[in-house]
Amino acid sequence: MGRRRGPEEPERQPEGLFGVEDLVAAAAPTSAEADRPFRDGPEARRLLRVTEIHAEPAAAASWRGRQIIARFPDARLVETDSHWRIPHLHGNEGNVRRWVRTKREVLVLGERASFAIRPNGRSADWIAPGLSNGCAMACAYCYVPRRKGFANPVTVFTNVDRVLGSLRRHITATGPKTEPNQCDERAWVYDIGENGDCSVDDLISDNTADLVHAFRHWPTAKASFATKLVNPDLLRLDPQGRTRIRFSLMPPEDSRLLDVRTSPVPARIGAAADFVDAGYEVHFNLSPVVVRPGWRQAWDELLRMMDDVLPPRVKEQSAAEIIMLTHNQGLHEVNLGWHPRAEDVLWREELQEPKQSENGAWNVRYRTAVKREAVEALSHMIGNRAPWLRVRYAF
Ligand code: SF4
Repeated sequence: MGRRRGPEEPERQPEGLFGVEDLVAAAAPTSAEADRPFRDGPEARRLLRVTEIHAEPAAAASWRGRQIIARFPDARLVETDSHWRIPHLHGNEGNVRRWVRTKREVLVLGERASFAIRPNGRSADWIAPGLSNGCAMACAYCYVPRRKGFANPVTVFTNVDRVLGSLRRHITATGPKTEPNQCDERAWVYDIGENGDCSVDDLISDNTADLVHAFRHWPTAKASFATKLVNPDLLRLDPQGRTRIRFSLMPPEDSRLLDVRTSPVPARIGAAADFVDAGYEVHFNLSPVVVRPGWRQAWDELLRMMDDVLPPRVKEQSAAEIIMLTHNQGLHEVNLGWHPRAEDVLWREELQEPKQSENGAWNVRYRTAVKREAVEALSHMIGNRAPWLRVRYAF
């Protein structure tokens, strides 16, 4: 199909916070700023200026729902039968042209209906039922919108107790981990952010804080989530080593094109030590690896930056996942409507082939030989530039 220009120019990553000096300067706020939570500051407001909340009645009436509605007092409240299918949002093709604006201005509140905990074995031992679906950031390769139609704002699930209850029962029934595996030597790892970004969720409600606090009491388990937002409010949660935060990294030039609305990559690297000092385990997701002209050199420079910037206390405890890009025909069509330049590097039919995923959906992945060669090349670079970085798995 032909290329269409989206009417909405994708927001760039914020200026500033691009280098170590910027990080040092940003770490010295005035006393008034130091007291103000990040979620109430200008960077958070750039991500979320909520004007419309679609809420299931039970979610709106819940304790968490009422907190969220009170947090955005100027937002128009619209009742909806189902958080999952809102015709005005997900079924409205015109919303592709407002892809980012919808993420900034719309929230959905719903009650989670399924509490199944699925085995994983790659990034985590288990996938927990998350407390959100959707994201205020807008990575062009994000898999979350693949089944959501023409809009993907954050849906917040308000029945937190039921999710925590299902986790508690599962952790109790599973018992201690007796055999180490690549997910973790001692603890069962639960991914709590499969369909969103927990750092963004914390700008909206205390759902992430509730999960982090709960895992403090479960010594056989560990929470884990990937993020592309540096949210300093999370430093106050005192996770006591029971939460692993995985900063996703890719070369900054790729990130500026593809990771729309996220924290710049140098800021994510620069924040790692603060998170270790605050009691998190910090790993890195080298993902997605996008094969394009010059990708090897770009990743080599990223690894060199990590080696230069990260202090020994971060390196000693870190590990990485390598995740090659997967894409999808439906998402390709959606992206052409709001960010067609991203598709120049994401949609490379000469390198890719269709493949059916675990849930039966047809995705597009790099051909086996392309993927094998890329993983070997990146592993070799890690050995040269960042030999301290243990690769947990490559996918
Ligand atoms: S940060 Fe994660 S969940 Fe959010 S848009 Fe990017 S890939 Fe999707």
